Amino acid sequence: MTTETLIKGDKTDDFQEIGTQEVNIQNAQNNAKLEDLCFKNEKRDFHIHTAFSDGFDLIENIVATAVKNGLEEIAITDHDSTKAYDVARYIIKKELYTNKNKLPLKIVPGVEVTVKKYHILGLYVDTKCEELQNLLAEIRAINNEKSKKRCEKLTTFGLPIVYEALREVFPLSKRISKFHIGWYLQNCLANEIEKDLGKNPPMFAILQTYLSKEKMDKLVEDVMDPKRAIDAIHKAKGLAIVAHPFKQINPKIEMYELDKLVALGIDGLEVQPNYGPENLPFIKYALDKGLKLTYGSDYHGPDFPLRPMLYGQDMRNVRTLPFAKVYR
Ligand SMILES: [Zn+2]
Repeated sequence: MTTETLIKGDKTDDFQEIGTQEVNIQNAQNNAKLEDLCFKNEKRDFHIHTAFSDGFDLIENIVATAVKNGLEEIAITDHDSTKAYDVARYIIKKELYTNKNKLPLKIVPGVEVTVKKYHILGLYVDTKCEELQNLLAEIRAINNEKSKKRCEKLTTFGLPIVYEALREVFPLSKRISKFHIGWYLQNCLANEIEKDLGKNPPMFAILQTYLSKEKMDKLVEDVMDPKRAIDAIHKAKGLAIVAHPFKQINPKIEMYELDKLVALGIDGLEVQPNYGPENLPFIKYALDKGLKLTYGSDYHGPDFPLRPMLYGQDMRNVRTLPFAKVYR
């Protein structure tokens, strides 16, 4: 049995230990170099958020940026909402009527469904599927309720946030999340948080200081059964893909958790090239099990530079840029 060290890069704080470990590729179903798969230069980005969930960019800008960057295909995967896709379709139609030019970009209808422990991407879903839409409405209600409780809790910490006011600040969003609350703290309660974090703290520090799971007790636990999400995505004729599995599963001791998801019917795993070697054990797992691999950035807008939209650039250095430590 041969063992090959695929990733030899310097270990930095920005990569977890997995980045330098030895990986056995004997059982991989093809000879593709796993490192190339980790950092693949994609012209497709299958994980993009808009202002209809917790992205900070409008769908119009996202489409324009994607076209400018030469992307061939993007999937709009807002949290628990497919609304942005309807708007995207309208933009494409308008473009056709006004410029008579076909948009040189394919837009895939998608969604990122919040379930217990995981986020499941639904790609190529029929957005009109009632079962899927009912499930998404149910999850949005759970999550909005959660954010309402987060606001109440923060108010008891001396940080007065009124949930209804937050909804007015983000009128497009179908689902208020901790990013929105973080933005509010950063921009509307800057004086109040200065005593803890100084002037102009980064979003990362705000989320960790005020909105971590520990700070929020049980308020932020997700309860939705993953099986319901996978079944609803399949009912909508979509592919069910586990988003960023490296964030939920410790590859050293928990890979068996993926077997459970396979048994529930997942179709594939997501690779996020901007996380480089952290993807490695999951790529190998997918190849071994014959699962699909999809590529996405988890783009949330230009304010999140560690998640740049994929457009065929080499992702190797993204997480070693100077701002990496601040945003990680
Ligand atoms: Zn996402």
